[in-house]
Amino acid sequence: MTSTSPALAENFSSPLRHDWTLSEVEALFQKPFNDLIFQAQLAHREHFDPNQVQVSTLLSIKTGACPEDCKYCPQSGHYNTGLEKEKLMEVKKVLEEAQRAKASGATRFCMGAAWKNPPAKDMPYIIEMIKGVKELGLESCMTLGMLSEDQASELAQAGLDYYNHNLDTSPEFYGNIITTRTYSDRLNTLSFVREAGMNVCSGGIVGLGETERDRAGMLVQLANMPKHPESVPINMLVKVAGTPLEDVDAVEGIDFVRTIAVAKIMMPASNVRLSAGRELMSDELQALAFLAGANSIFLGDKLLTTANPEANKDRQLFEKLGINEGHDWGAMLEAPHEKCPIKAMYDAEKSNDHYYDAMAGKSMAGRD
Ligand code: SF4
Repeated sequence: MTSTSPALAENFSSPLRHDWTLSEVEALFQKPFNDLIFQAQLAHREHFDPNQVQVSTLLSIKTGACPEDCKYCPQSGHYNTGLEKEKLMEVKKVLEEAQRAKASGATRFCMGAAWKNPPAKDMPYIIEMIKGVKELGLESCMTLGMLSEDQASELAQAGLDYYNHNLDTSPEFYGNIITTRTYSDRLNTLSFVREAGMNVCSGGIVGLGETERDRAGMLVQLANMPKHPESVPINMLVKVAGTPLEDVDAVEGIDFVRTIAVAKIMMPASNVRLSAGRELMSDELQALAFLAGANSIFLGDKLLTTANPEANKDRQLFEKLGINEGHDWGAMLEAPHEKCPIKAMYDAEKSNDHYYDAMAGKSMAGRD
């Protein structure tokens, strides 16, 4: 017969707290792995169905040539990564993509642009995109860089539901990764987004060369905001040739899962998103991340490309784990091409770099 140890019994309820201390969070990271995962799973079950994972699609509406110098990002104009830069996508084209995403069953459409901040000349087009996506009945999400207070209100008034702006890492380590904008700039944007009434999506990256203390420090920043971000993406660095971090040591999978678990314990009602870097992870590592409380992913185009034997990896993993049962991926994938909006969409987009490919980590690996 087993018994619950005092170490586990100490934290069976997970109230929403905003007063985390660094030492307290470091202690969470130091817990025995099984105890940590158990606690995270309990916290997760207080707020979510443990077998549901939200799936998002992300479209790059403006790729490359970003003036920021984020050392991990292939979209930075400071590094030569061979990424072709592109202008802002036409509104019509964006809405066509949104329509296809809707036909595929998506409920939220995320749009990302590699900008320091949205240029005034492009704001009218951005507003049109938001309104158009809303008219389709989809939730809208954008990541466009820093925002002024006025821009945040403009986006909110247009109906934008979510704004993504990551903290990336701790305030202490931040200067090793980005020099062209400050940590305070990021916090200011997030507070403008919140004050304007939009939902906040903010997280960071594991594997930049940071310490465990830095991971704890980043989570303290997120969890101690007056309201937790509704979405907390935790990325595993995708090392891209040509960026200054191309040779940084890879993060241990177990350490990555610990970060997910601690994030879930600290922000139990938030969606913790297993974000960029999934292509580096085995099925077992992803399963551990779901067990630790990750309940959101970005869809890779390979998921729905039946021609490739590797293509259905995500769907197969979900089936193996009993995730999102009742979602009829199989029937849709096996449907004849002309009857299958998802397959048609991804077949059409296979050679299009605009779609974020979570499995390859391309195109939007450094979305902010
Ligand atoms: S992460 Fe965002 S801000 Fe930084 S270089 Fe890439 S696109 Fe620009």
